Formats: sequence, C-alpha cells, structure tokens
Amino acid sequence: MKKYREVEEILSPDKSHMVGDGFKVMNYFPLGESFNKRMNPFFLMDFNAEVDFPPTDKPRGVGVHPHRGFETVTIAYKGAVAHHDSFGNSGIIYPGDVQWMTAGKGILHKEYHEVEYAKKGGPFEMIQLWVNLPKQYKMTEPKYQAIQHDQKGKLELDKNAGSVFIIAGEYNSIKGAATTFSPVNLFDIRLKAQGEVDLTLASDFNTGLLVVEGEAIVNEQHGVKATNYIQFKNTEGNIHIKATKDSIFLLLSGEAINEPVANYGPFVMNTVQEIQEAIDDFNKGKFGFLEN
Ligand code: MN
Repeated sequence: MKKYREVEEILSPDKSHMVGDGFKVMNYFPLGESFNKRMNPFFLMDFNAEVDFPPTDKPRGVGVHPHRGFETVTIAYKGAVAHHDSFGNSGIIYPGDVQWMTAGKGILHKEYHEVEYAKKGGPFEMIQLWVNLPKQYKMTEPKYQAIQHDQKGKLELDKNAGSVFIIAGEYNSIKGAATTFSPVNLFDIRLKAQGEVDLTLASDFNTGLLVVEGEAIVNEQHGVKATNYIQFKNTEGNIHIKATKDSIFLLLSGEAINEPVANYGPFVMNTVQEIQEAIDDFNKGKFGFLEN
C-alpha cells in the first residue's frame, strides 16, 4: 500500500491582474486568507500563464521600484525579460532561465520585456516568487544570481519520463545552482506525456506544486491542469506525479522561518518599525539610484 503525502487544497484561480503593463499574473499567495504564511518561507507567488503580447517598440514591464528584506525569484518559460538594478547588475532571462535577486538591505530595480522579444511579440510565460529572508540576513548586501537553464542541477528520470531540474536545494544528491539563506527546494520538473515521478520531501517543509503547462494526475487521485496549484499537508509520504500530456511543474518546498512578518508593499520585514525605517531609507535615497 503506497502512502502519499496528503493534499490540503487545490487552487484554481480565475482572476488575473496586471503588474505594470508587462505581467498578467494570477496571484496564489499571500492574498488568499488561508495561504497567508502557509507557504512560509515563500511569501508570494505570481504566475503569468501563457499570454500573447502584441509587437511593440516600447517594451512593456515594471518601472523602477524598491525592495527590502527578501528575495525575488523570476523564472522564464516563454518570452524574455531584461532586468536592471541600482547595484549595477543587469541581465536577460530567456526560456528556462532564472534570476534570483537578493534585495537584502535595499535595492531598486526595473523589469521589462527584452527589446527583441518586445519587437516581435508573441507567447510570454513567467513566474515570480518572493522568498523571505531570516531576520539575521534581512539587511545583507544585495546580490544577483543569474542561472541559465543548463546550469540547473539535472536528474534524468528513468524510462525516458523527463527531467527534474534543481534550481535550488538538493534532490537525489544533485544540488541546485542557487545559494539560499534558509533551506529551500525549488524544482523545475518537466515530464513527457505518461511520464511519472515520485518525489520524497521533508514532511515538515511547507510544500506546493504549480502546474505551469500540461495536465497530470497527482497521487493517483487528483486530476490537475495548467494553472492549478496543489497545496500539500505537512504529512509523511511521497508526491507522485503522472503527466497525461507533456507538462511542466514548479515544486516549492521550504523550511518555515519562525519569525514575525511585517509587510508593506515591496518590503517584507519583522516589525512595523522596520517597515517605517525601510520607507524612510527609500525616501532618503539609501537604496541607490536607477534611471527609469
Ligand atoms: Mn520587483
């Protein structure tokens, strides 16, 4: 008798909103009441499911804005995004690439569709996660990890079922490319139609699975499709995924940071006073300068 990790809830959002004019996202958390803090240390997940943007000479996106106290992780599936920040970092992420930005003590950045993609237009698909930082690292120096698809750890599955790409954390002794400040597993799972995978993750790590593309049966019981998000309970047992079409999944699993959270807009701190300091420091120009 197989014992699978229990499913707590399956989210199927039917609303999206624009972030700037370049990202048409569905929000999974923290907006849903029951998900506020449920996926600690993951604070926010926005998914821009595939959408076609028309060609333009003026790239769409989000202008200069600040962050402090956490990390933004952007994963590209279709289209391309260019990034610039006030510490002089810049880069472009193409399909499969990941940008892992540690805002730490404070940074300004802007995120726009890459110029050539914008000119051509076409399919665009992207995820952004906010990963909280432990109190002792909230004011760390900002940094930027550019992870190309071929730099991720890679586990080839048996029977030509597909691959598990390890962005962060570790699986089957294969390490992810990103360094993190608390235990975080982030896997980009790509299964062929009829491909199966059985994942073992620590039961005390908060764990969820987003169906990015395709369709699958989870734990031999739950039929899910693109944009569905499966929240697992913190129980023992494997997670079994069988794709019924060529599919892509994002698996999030992390150890909760058991510290108070105070959030206001682009700042995630521990106390209301620290939020006020973040606003003051931003207003005083302490996050540096970045041209719009
Ligand atoms: Mn941002």
